[in-house]
Parts: sequence; C-alpha cells; structure tokens
Amino acid sequence: MPMAATQRDYYEILGVSRSASGEEIKKAYKRLAIKYHPDRNSGDAEAVEKFKQASEAFEVLSDADKRSRYDRFGHAGVKGAAGGGHPRDVEDIFEAFGDLFEGFGMFGGRRPRGGPQRGEHAHASLTIDLKTAATGCDSEISITRKKQCTTCDGSGSEPGTTPEVCEYCGGHGQVVQAQGFFRMQRTCPACRGAGKIIRHKCGTCYGSGREDEEVTLTIKVPPGVDNGMQIRVRGEGEAGLGGGPRGDLFVDVHVKEHPLFQREGTQLLCRVPITYTQAALGATIEIPVLDGREELEIPAGTQPATVFRLRGKGMPDPHGRRTGDLHVEVELVVPRKLGDEHEELLRKLAELEKSEVNPHQKSWLDKLKDFITGEDEDD
Ligand SMILES: [Zn+2]
Ligand SMILES: [Zn+2]
Repeated sequence: MPMAATQRDYYEILGVSRSASGEEIKKAYKRLAIKYHPDRNSGDAEAVEKFKQASEAFEVLSDADKRSRYDRFGHAGVKGAAGGGHPRDVEDIFEAFGDLFEGFGMFGGRRPRGGPQRGEHAHASLTIDLKTAATGCDSEISITRKKQCTTCDGSGSEPGTTPEVCEYCGGHGQVVQAQGFFRMQRTCPACRGAGKIIRHKCGTCYGSGREDEEVTLTIKVPPGVDNGMQIRVRGEGEAGLGGGPRGDLFVDVHVKEHPLFQREGTQLLCRVPITYTQAALGATIEIPVLDGREELEIPAGTQPATVFRLRGKGMPDPHGRRTGDLHVEVELVVPRKLGDEHEELLRKLAELEKSEVNPHQKSWLDKLKDFITGEDEDD
C-alpha cells in the first residue's frame, strides 16, 4: 500500500530500540516534542511534520495494546488508531498529549526570560566631614562591580560555542505545574529562567556572562547632605544580563561628628564659654562658624544658656530650601582657681552684692603641707 512506503518506523522516529520501556519511549517523545514543537518552529513545515510523526509514534507505542499490534502487523495493524495516513491536526495532538507537557511550560505563552535584564543595584559608602557636607564635593570612590565579560561578550559561552535552548522548558524559562485544578507557572529549575543552557562555559566568567571590575567613580555630593542619606547614581551599578542596562549605584553617606557643632537637619548648635564678667558687662566674643571664625556681640546682662541665632550660618538644605541657622548657646564658666588679686576683687563684689560667701579658706594642699610640717617638728 502506498502509505507504507512513506511511513517511517515508529521506533526509528522516536530513536528508541524495539525493546524500549514505556519510560524510555515517553522520554524520547518529550525530547522530540519539545524540539519540534510548532510554538518554537513557526513556519517550519518540516519541524511541524516531525512533531506530528513523533506524536503519532508515541500515541501508538505508549499504548500496550496498540504497540503489540504494531509490533506484529506494522502500520497496517494500527491503521486508524493513530490516524495513520490521516494525521490529526496539531491542535488535536496538543489536546491528546496535553498532560505530557505539564511541567514543560509549553502552553504558557510567556516571553522567554533569556532576554536583556537590568543589572542589580550596587551599594557603596562614603564618609565625609561636616564642613565637606556643607559645601558639597566631588568625591572619588572605588568600587568592585560586575561588567560584561570581555572574553564571551556577555554570552557566558566559550567563544565559538553558543548556548543551547533549555530542553526542560523549551526555552520559555517558565514551567507550568499542575496542582489539582490549578496550573501554576514558575521559573524553570533547569535554566533558572534563562531559557538557555550553557554547555561550554566561558572560562573567564564561568558562564555568568559578567566579570568583576574595579572602578573609581566621581560622586557628586550635594551641599547639605546629611548622615544616613543615600545618593543614587543612575546606571553605575552592576552590568545587565543579555545586553540589559546597568543597575544603579546607591552611596550611603556618613557624616562624621564635629567636635564643636551639633547638627539637627539644617540647624547647627554650638556652645561657647563666657565668663561672669563678659555676661555681666557685655563683650565681643569669637565664635566658630563652619568656614572659620566670626565675632558675636554679647550684650551686657546676658543670662547663662542664652541662645544667639545666626541666620544662614547653618547647613544648606540638600533639597534647595532655606539654609539653616547657627545657634550659639553661651555657657557661663566659673574659674576653678583664683589668683590673690582676683579673689580679693570677687570678695569685694560679694560684699557689694550682699551675698553670703564662705570665709577665706586655706586650700587642702596648704592644710596638708601644714600637717606634714607639724609632724616633722614633732620628730
Ligand atoms: Zn529551562
Ligand atoms: Zn565570559
């Protein structure tokens, strides 16, 4: 009969021996079905034909009854069973073998994930002092980040080789898992979503397509940057995959504590010691400001802990709002030691102020001296 001449042996089509087990037949069919699936071979009539042949061979050989008839009578024995000479249409074959594809993501219809992917964000940190934070700066930082592998141009394959389509997911990068009535898509475990398997890995990047590079970048630190702020530098993170763009670089800013200034956002506070006489009589005192020194008028009768506000002498606002103020708190300091004349004057002052003060006392050291001297005399 004319069909017999054109019909290949089913075992031959699947590439298995005549004694192949059911499992071997299933495996062989899966491989071919994925390879020649019409989804992946659109417009390729030969592939579609091979897909049909494989499906037909499988339909017969996977059924014990049909297989035994085929073994005894050849194609004639199963004529009609698998549509010999009248191959089912591809959609029907999908229906008939749908369960076989479960776990293969054939019908997911999702775009393979092997395409370009943006690189991850990179992180770095930068420590500056308060004065630099106030002025802003161009700061150089060195980081280690990923760049596209120069050996394989990012493909991950040894030069001269190309990645193979992942058989497990048919290049979709996703697989469908059936759980009862639900079909869930998940990333293909074989290729981790890439849709490709690299058989010959690039010796430089071991298949990742990226390698480390050390770069020194100039980071624009805006005036007024505060401790704990992050500067985002677009496109300076890790290299992308498959030609995707770089991620961003996030720089954590640490602003060192200043010995004189306390910072609260854009406001600065500093404490300046003054004496009783300066507070009482008034004075011009020198105070520190971020870029040096300035003079501050203390009016007569200034009380302890009075705060003087110097407008615009604080920190600039990184968002461009008003620059903060410098708050100068005066601290009244009392001398720890007094010279004779100094003490004399203060006692007169106390009399004048009618304030109770302790009578003149010998210092503890003087008393100790007297004590030791006394003992010496006794000896
Ligand atoms: Zn895969
Ligand atoms: Zn490489």
